[in-house]
Amino acid sequence: MPQMEFQTEVSQLLQLIIHSLYSNPEIFLRELISNSSDALDKLRHLTLTDEAFKSMPFDPRIELALDEEAKILTLSDTGIGMNSEDLVSHLGTIARSGTKNFLSQLSGDQKKDSNLIGQFGVGFYSVFMVADKVEVVTRKAGEELAWRWTSDGKTGFEIEPASREVAGTTVTIHLNEDGAPFASSWRLQEIVKKYSNHIAFPIFLTYDKSEWNAEEKKSDKHRVTEQVNAASALWRRSKSELTDDDYKELYKSISGDGEDPLFWFHTRAEGSLEYTTLFFIPAHAPLDLYQAEYKTGVKLYVKRVFILDDSKDLLPQYLRFVRGVIDSEDLPLNVSRELLQQNKVLTSIRTASVKKILSELGKIATDQPEKYLDFIKQFNRPLKEGLYGDYANRETLLDLIRFKSTTAEGLTSLADVKSRMKEGQKALYYITGGGGTGSGGGAGPAGAESLLRSSPLLEIYKKRGIEVLLLDDDIDEIVFQGIDKYGDLELQSVAKGDVGDDLKDAAAEEAETSEDLQPLLEKLKAILGDRVKDVRASVRLADSPSCIVSDEDDPSLQMQQMLRAMGQTNFPAPKPTLEINPTHPIVKKLLARPAAPDADAVAGASVADDAAWLLFDQALLMEGVALPDPASFVKRLNRMLTLSV
Ligand code: ADP
Ligand code: MG
Repeated sequence: MPQMEFQTEVSQLLQLIIHSLYSNPEIFLRELISNSSDALDKLRHLTLTDEAFKSMPFDPRIELALDEEAKILTLSDTGIGMNSEDLVSHLGTIARSGTKNFLSQLSGDQKKDSNLIGQFGVGFYSVFMVADKVEVVTRKAGEELAWRWTSDGKTGFEIEPASREVAGTTVTIHLNEDGAPFASSWRLQEIVKKYSNHIAFPIFLTYDKSEWNAEEKKSDKHRVTEQVNAASALWRRSKSELTDDDYKELYKSISGDGEDPLFWFHTRAEGSLEYTTLFFIPAHAPLDLYQAEYKTGVKLYVKRVFILDDSKDLLPQYLRFVRGVIDSEDLPLNVSRELLQQNKVLTSIRTASVKKILSELGKIATDQPEKYLDFIKQFNRPLKEGLYGDYANRETLLDLIRFKSTTAEGLTSLADVKSRMKEGQKALYYITGGGGTGSGGGAGPAGAESLLRSSPLLEIYKKRGIEVLLLDDDIDEIVFQGIDKYGDLELQSVAKGDVGDDLKDAAAEEAETSEDLQPLLEKLKAILGDRVKDVRASVRLADSPSCIVSDEDDPSLQMQQMLRAMGQTNFPAPKPTLEINPTHPIVKKLLARPAAPDADAVAGASVADDAAWLLFDQALLMEGVALPDPASFVKRLNRMLTLSV
């Protein structure tokens, strides 16, 4: 057959590939191996379904052979092979629909854009990134003749008769300068393991191995053949075939973690979309869990061919600690990172995967509560992040997250808190603050917890036996601000706005007595001036004289403090409201004082002034807020001490 020219699109494509993909030329091997794997899949299918092929022996293998010196790499398979028409139409034209259109739309500059090229498959032609000459000898299954296809990848190709003993294809690659690094058995093994370890067929590599010959005191070169890939897409096998050890080994090989995983969830989906997912939960939080540049842990495969493992789109960010594999039947092999983001198939897989992971965690929480706590110790906090971003799964996440509370020991679930609620209780209450770093996975520092436990805001709830959740992680306030329901129950902060419905009767009682308080409240307000929004009588307090509350929609004082510490200063600082306890002796005594003037003032300072500021400052301290002017606080305290000792 005479020399044939490439379709114009093919030569354009070749130029594009050669000039755009050089940053990652190693993918040529992945492409060729997956072609071989496809060819083996096709032949297997024929031998299983076509009478004419049933008696044909099927010995699937992919063989790589390296001639290091000549820089020639050959890749053979025992797959379906091609005849001369196949060669022309498959290796001489661009079969993929849309590619032609796509090329015609590109301007010269765009053609160099490697992001664009990722949008269609480069396939076989990627071999010309590393080769200046490629020869394909192939024989189609069921046919007698074999053919040789040769090309320099520039202008065209030649097809001539050849001979081949059995059906299959051999690609001989004459490596060019850029391909020289691939004339290394070590490098080839590395690439095969990286991209094709779980191709279902064995891949063998034949190369010259140097071995030290002790007797003759020299190193000998032997031609050796070794299987390079694991040839087992473990996740494609059914669960019943796999042992715990199989799973653990796979986990270790894909995660680089030396420890056994806590649990794994293996799912095979069949129906409109076909895919397999195998997810692992590590025993310990990855070290980079709280770093912006965390490493992702899920690998994407398409039909057992590795595609990528660093996409943050495979799972939502809050599940970044999950390790594992997604293997899809429906994605194109060369789906690009950019396209992944909007790919419908992947979006469906992702949505289903999140549901699966969360529901499996829920099962463990019910069936193995002890083990579930091991999980919570590591990953409670990322789950809380999910409340913020994953609206669709909010209810599920609320059930999975564990909380500290004023009455329960250890950690408790919202469902349990709900079951312990007092009859007729209308809301679930929580207190935030303490600024836990979350590095302990939601445990919060002990200091934060004890600060919360001693908050005056909890007094009335304690008195009435109402359980309050202690949210001592630094993200809790942001996260829970946006959540006002658990099922049909209100979720309410004890530090914000009015007291909940459950304390409304106390509020009514208080309203009757507050008449007499009015002059004192006015006076305190006048003294504290613009530091407070309001001063009012409290129904929350039992033992403390005062407390600080914020408006429903304002960030709490701790939150404001945290934002400032993070360098955010340009937000309006909402003022807090000071509440005082009408039944506290200090307040009663203040009420009983003659209106003016201050008979017992020390050093000209008014006792009423000092009392007002001390009530305010102590309330701040109890909420873990640093006083803006500690010196004044100490002076006032000392003046009061002078009066009393
Ligand atoms: P794709 O694999 O996406 O179809 P390629 O450019 O990789 O695109 O390959 C083009 C076509 O060439 C394949 O679809 C297949 O028909 C044929 N082909 C390539 N390699 C082989 C092979 N080793 N055995 C049989 N056919 C092959
Ligand atoms: Mg291909």
